[in-house]
Amino acid sequence: MTSAFNTRQERRPLRLAVLGSTGSVGASTLDVVARHPERFEIVGLTAHSRVDMLLQQCLRFKPRVAVLPTEERARELRSALAGHAVRTEVLVGPQALCDLAASSEVDSVMAAIVGAAGLPPCMAAARAGKRLLLANKEALVVGADLFMQAVKDGGATLLPIDSEHSAIFQCLPEDRSRWAERIDHIILTASGGPFRERDPATFDSITPAQAVAHPNWVMGQKISVDSATMMNKALEVIEARWLFDLAPERIRVVLHPQSIIHSMVVCRDASVLAQLGTPDMKVPIAYGLSFPDRVESGAERLDFLKLQALTFEPPDPARFPGLQLAYDALAAPSGSTAVLNAANEEAVAAFLAGRIRFPAIHRVNADTVEAFVSRLGPARQLDDVLDIDTRARAHARQRIQELAA
Ligand code: NDP
Ligand code: MG
Repeated sequence: MTSAFNTRQERRPLRLAVLGSTGSVGASTLDVVARHPERFEIVGLTAHSRVDMLLQQCLRFKPRVAVLPTEERARELRSALAGHAVRTEVLVGPQALCDLAASSEVDSVMAAIVGAAGLPPCMAAARAGKRLLLANKEALVVGADLFMQAVKDGGATLLPIDSEHSAIFQCLPEDRSRWAERIDHIILTASGGPFRERDPATFDSITPAQAVAHPNWVMGQKISVDSATMMNKALEVIEARWLFDLAPERIRVVLHPQSIIHSMVVCRDASVLAQLGTPDMKVPIAYGLSFPDRVESGAERLDFLKLQALTFEPPDPARFPGLQLAYDALAAPSGSTAVLNAANEEAVAAFLAGRIRFPAIHRVNADTVEAFVSRLGPARQLDDVLDIDTRARAHARQRIQELAA
């Protein structure tokens, strides 16, 4: 593992680009950063639709670069910035995201874009050898081998931000070469989301508002729906397979409704290491930002005397059929996880738009993976992966039309 850029000896702030700064993880990242102006400098911020919020962030953090997807939104931001003493250059489009991620003026990239759209800038950051803070799990699920190869080739430092993977990472030695000898298996915890106890016979009537109302975490809409279906845990199983180089059978999932234990490593000697804390993304974000040091995150402390019981139960496959899709996709030809992710992104968007019912999300996912399993060729470069993604989305959209509510 390469060392942190912002160790005390170096005494220069870590220069950070936050991709997806207007989202839930992006905003929490800026919250942690604002507590440590001497340690972190914001060099770049990016958004997709929330221009007003990006404007406020630019005024506060004064980045050198801001990126938006269209010239129209960029013009809007430029004119809003014109009256202020902020010299932020506003750039446009996917290539600008990649350029920012790979820029020599950036030490560290927080990858907090949602979905496969985050893959190209993640790859650019990895190839450029950045310290890459990965919240954008879909990028790894889609790009898998290519992504990990880019990390290796570029000499990048990949730090997990997803709370479960951060927990596992915090339970492991800094020296990655010692991970394999230590781990028997890992246990990813899952809250079970808002429908852990709801009668599955009523799943047809679940509304988007009910699905995004997570009992423990405040998150973006897409991941909130994924938590309700447990597709989030499915994506996390795939993410863990790559981050920790573990065979799928050594990645287990346990429901833990209180979300206090964020995941566990079961060691060869049967000792179990766990990381605990209040459910607040600022904790794994602060750890990723300051690794291997620890800094104030702003999260509430855990009060053991106020804790109720910590409970555990197996995930019910009838209630959460999506979880098994991760194991099936990992056993299928490479590219299957990209298909699964593409189908899920389309299905979740359709559900949020009121076009399909909640149970149809799983139907779209399972049917799309099934349709592609026998016709996947090897993905040698990023374009091959993006091509699989495009074709899988087209198939999923057709299935969505057939299932439309
Ligand atoms: P949000 O939806 O809150 O934010 C997503 C961010 O990405 C926003 O800044 C959004 O811009 C931007 N964005 C959306 N679409 C695109 C696109 N096509 N191109 C470029 N930028 C885009 O998501 P979250 O913060 O909840 O999640 C971000 C990532 O982190 C996801 O991969 C999620 O799985 C992961 N994660 C999130 C956790 C959480 O607690 N939220 C926990 C663990 C992982 P805009 O808002 O301007 O439209
Ligand atoms: Mg998670």
